[in-house]
Amino acid sequence: MYSEVLEDDFLETLFTKGLVRRPFESIATAAEKAAGDALTTDGPTAAVLRAAEVGSRSAADIVRVRLAAGRWDPPAACARGCAHCCAQRVDITPAEAALIATALPEGDPRRERVKARAGQLSPMSQEERLRARAPCALLHEDGTCSVYAARPLVCRAASSLDATACARAMETTEGGGEIPIEPWSSASMRAAHVGLRRALVSARLPSTLEDIHEALSRVL
Ligand code: SF4
Ligand code: SF4
Repeated sequence: MYSEVLEDDFLETLFTKGLVRRPFESIATAAEKAAGDALTTDGPTAAVLRAAEVGSRSAADIVRVRLAAGRWDPPAACARGCAHCCAQRVDITPAEAALIATALPEGDPRRERVKARAGQLSPMSQEERLRARAPCALLHEDGTCSVYAARPLVCRAASSLDATACARAMETTEGGGEIPIEPWSSASMRAAHVGLRRALVSARLPSTLEDIHEALSRVL
């Protein structure tokens, strides 16, 4: 799965399988630089977008290079309205929460939905949260993300080759189930997330990850 808790194992697996080698660190460094520059000029919300740009551009670059070398990768199964992954825990930085908040104007009913979900989740243990499989409060009924342009980096990193496997994994309460990952988008965006957090730390800004509803409730 894509949670921060498993980040090291996830990346280690990709490295071990030879799917991602040197690019990861260079993407993280590029994202750190881009986010750091944005922090000094435009602030944390711009830093998130700059890091996300580096992540998506890097994934596209890797695919282009591989195609030119005659390496074909199966396309991701992700599509508009496919939202099984929106029922897993999403951990974000305060900067990402600030960016999402810009898409939730005063009086928007999603603000209350987010706060209610945070209140529901707060007393729960990690195991109880996993079992609850509560969909993100920002998910539209048609399965689309209501804050797509401002969505967290971990959401941008969710990229699978098999939507059925995603659905099956979400049906389990143990968080199990193998999901064949589309590695380039996943690893590039995860590297960008690492870079963003490094930039926040360097700027002495908070970088701790927290559940999306709880992090958002602090800024709404
Ligand atoms: S990660 Fe899985 S559930 Fe999420 S959009 Fe992609 S295929 Fe659908
Ligand atoms: S922010 Fe959007 S993409 Fe991320 S979990 Fe919520 S609805 Fe899904």
